[in-house]
Amino acid sequence: MACSSGGDQGAESKCSIKRDPNGYFNNPFPEFKLMSPIDLFKFFRSKDDTNLPSQESKIDQTLPFKKNFDDVDSKSQNTVTWIGHASCLLKMSGIYVLTDPIFSQYCSAVQNISSKFKRFRQPGLSLKEMDKVDAVVISHDHYDHLDYNSVIDINKRFPSSQWFVPLGLKSWFEGRGIRSESIHEMNWWEEKSHTFQKGKLTFTCLPAQHWSTRTGIFKNYSLWCGWRVMSSERNVYFAGDTGYNDRIFRQIGNHCGPFDLSLIPIGAYEPREFLKCQHVNPEEAVKVHDEVNSKLSLGIHWGTFKLGKEHYLAPPKDLKAALEAANIDEAKFVTFQHGECREF
Ligand code: ZN
Ligand code: ZN
Repeated sequence: MACSSGGDQGAESKCSIKRDPNGYFNNPFPEFKLMSPIDLFKFFRSKDDTNLPSQESKIDQTLPFKKNFDDVDSKSQNTVTWIGHASCLLKMSGIYVLTDPIFSQYCSAVQNISSKFKRFRQPGLSLKEMDKVDAVVISHDHYDHLDYNSVIDINKRFPSSQWFVPLGLKSWFEGRGIRSESIHEMNWWEEKSHTFQKGKLTFTCLPAQHWSTRTGIFKNYSLWCGWRVMSSERNVYFAGDTGYNDRIFRQIGNHCGPFDLSLIPIGAYEPREFLKCQHVNPEEAVKVHDEVNSKLSLGIHWGTFKLGKEHYLAPPKDLKAALEAANIDEAKFVTFQHGECREF
């Protein structure tokens, strides 16, 4: 691990990350521990409280869509739309940025083989409904964040899109037909500006406490991260997937905040025994919101795939309780319906 100079000391130092001699990335946070095969076995066997209805109509009632993209987006240069899970469409000064796009029916290596990773709520906005995608930010290579079919489809429909990815993923994108010059592979705290037709955005790759794998065997061969996306008018934080520790988010807030909008995961957090070090729960998400200095946060990473064992409607409910306990106005950290678009 290498830390930048510039007067930053201790917990305040901005640390890039290097591969170890075997070629792997390691979290510099002692809070993180990779799940062992035994942990994984225990996790799959642990009590399942998701209670996901088998009838689509019941899900329609409890997680209704809100299709207001056309109305809201046409009236503002700065909007956010929740597509589902960690996929959001940001519009910043008229420039469209997708976060961790997944439109597929499964978030697993093998499609159609297990209902375990099947999408239970369809995307709130489809690629066909988008006129433009200027950039895509990818947080890491897990299947619920990096989806093969979605990458192929975006590249086909929007071939001039720019792809911002963490270290170790460039070759994956090249192998899927993305032009090398459109792939921006970055380390933690690296910053890059790109000028689009409608103006300039600056992308900063930010640390996260997580891990990576696409094979289940080779872990941490590519990096995981969050992103800051900044226009001349707005500053946005996308946390990706991350566990909580008490340094990382203050540091992000100090160096990159305040944020006009933060996209913070609030789902896939039970049982804590196995997921705490890699996924924040709503209570920790509220700490993240506070520590990064976010004016408005949107809870993501829920309501779409069954990944954790908490009730499928628990994330927004637990978020409300956590906000109340922390004495934070619930209008400051919201959840959307699938497809919902709002100006920010
Ligand atoms: Zn992940
Ligand atoms: Zn995830």
